[in-house]
Amino acid sequence: MAGLYIHIPFCRAKCLYCDFVSFPGGGPVMEEYLAALVQEAILHQRPEGEPWPEFTSVYIGGGTPTVVPAHLLVDTLQNIYRVLPWSSGAEVTVEANPGTVDLDTLACLRSGGANRLSLGVQSFDDSLLAVMGRAHGAEQAAMAFRQARQVGFLNINIDLMYALPGQTMVVWLDTLYRAVSLEPDHLSLYGLKIEPGTPWGHAVATGEVAEPDQDVAGEMYLTAREVLTGAGYEQYEISNFALPGRQCHHNKLYWQRKDYLGLGVAAASHRCNRRWTNSQDLHAYLQDILAGRVPMAEQELLSSHEAMAENMWLGLRMLQGVDLGAFAARYGRRVEEVFGEAVEGLLDRGLLAMAGGHLRLTARALPVANEVFVHFLGP
Ligand code: SF4
Repeated sequence: MAGLYIHIPFCRAKCLYCDFVSFPGGGPVMEEYLAALVQEAILHQRPEGEPWPEFTSVYIGGGTPTVVPAHLLVDTLQNIYRVLPWSSGAEVTVEANPGTVDLDTLACLRSGGANRLSLGVQSFDDSLLAVMGRAHGAEQAAMAFRQARQVGFLNINIDLMYALPGQTMVVWLDTLYRAVSLEPDHLSLYGLKIEPGTPWGHAVATGEVAEPDQDVAGEMYLTAREVLTGAGYEQYEISNFALPGRQCHHNKLYWQRKDYLGLGVAAASHRCNRRWTNSQDLHAYLQDILAGRVPMAEQELLSSHEAMAENMWLGLRMLQGVDLGAFAARYGRRVEEVFGEAVEGLLDRGLLAMAGGHLRLTARALPVANEVFVHFLGP
């Protein structure tokens, strides 16, 4: 089981809070980039070590994949399918910005093999969307959702953000209710993080915009849990909620430390405790591909302790927690043996709970999960 991530680094415009590797526009380089993605897949067709197993998921993310004309995106995907091994029932997600899709685009993606759509709605408040520099309004987002259903997307995620400057609890609740009223299959919630180097990072540094209040952020998170679980969604990860049978297979591969291959600028890969990241520089990426080189910028080989630690904090992100038996079978050592002191302290503080052979975060720990994770970082 392995996942494939394809990074499309183009956006219509740069949102004011964003530090993802994405570039406004695209223009003539777009087609060159899509061809490079296929060439990169060919470079991984026959790796030096074990060949890749069948990919059971593909996630086309960005950036904004839907700034690429849909037929070109579908052609690229089909060309990659011809090169790498695929499972016939693979989950195929495309991220979409509601301001960049219409009925024809969505129909093309659906008939081209995408079976899951992830809509970056972020808010149903027009003034907040404008302040964020988003390229769409609230009604456009609702329309994109309805059109996606109309063309046959049975599995749709909505991304929402909270702790935004000027966002009150009333506005957040309105966004949550409007999202739920559309009946999406999955919702992902993200608290705003101010990143240095972004326009909002600068505005916070100069005092123009206030840093998100962590207490307010915590309240918004807990309120969202209440609303979404009340509406029938199961929380299966710190930030993710799904209807039965609609958990995101691709993201679960990350939290379970499975292998994944990332294609494209800045994409990350993981294979048998080796992790590597592609160049973040678009020009350098294209040059490497042209020269027939894997465009790797960094790589690291994880020690067995690092792999076990990563298994802990990634596994704890999921509400089912870390399966203690599976951990022992995978690493040949028991969690208590390796992390006994940390686990005991966190159990005593009521941040972890042990039940049914799993170690998991308690409800109290969910809004402050990083306080738990730090205990599994470091040597
Ligand atoms: S659409 Fe997404 S990736 Fe593009 S600039 Fe906005 S937040 Fe960043």
